Amino acid sequence: MSKGVKTFADKLAKNAKDFKIHCPNCGEPFEYVKHIMPITDAKGNTLRFKEKVVGLCKCNRSQIVK
Ligand SMILES: [Zn+2]
Repeated sequence: MSKGVKTFADKLAKNAKDFKIHCPNCGEPFEYVKHIMPITDAKGNTLRFKEKVVGLCKCNRSQIVK
C-alpha cells in the first residue's frame, strides 16, 4: 500500500487536526465561504451589505449557493 492512500480513520484524524466542524444534521464538514449578506432593518429595508463567513453543508448549500 502506498503512503499516499488515506484511510477513513486518517481522514477523521486530519479533520480533527484541522478543527473542522461537522454538521450535526448531515454529518458533512462545513465548507467555509464568504457570503455577502444584506442587513435589513425592522421595516425590511436593506441598509447595507455585510461580508460574512458562513459554513456550508448539505442542509444550507442550496439556500446560499445559487
Ligand atoms: Zn448539514
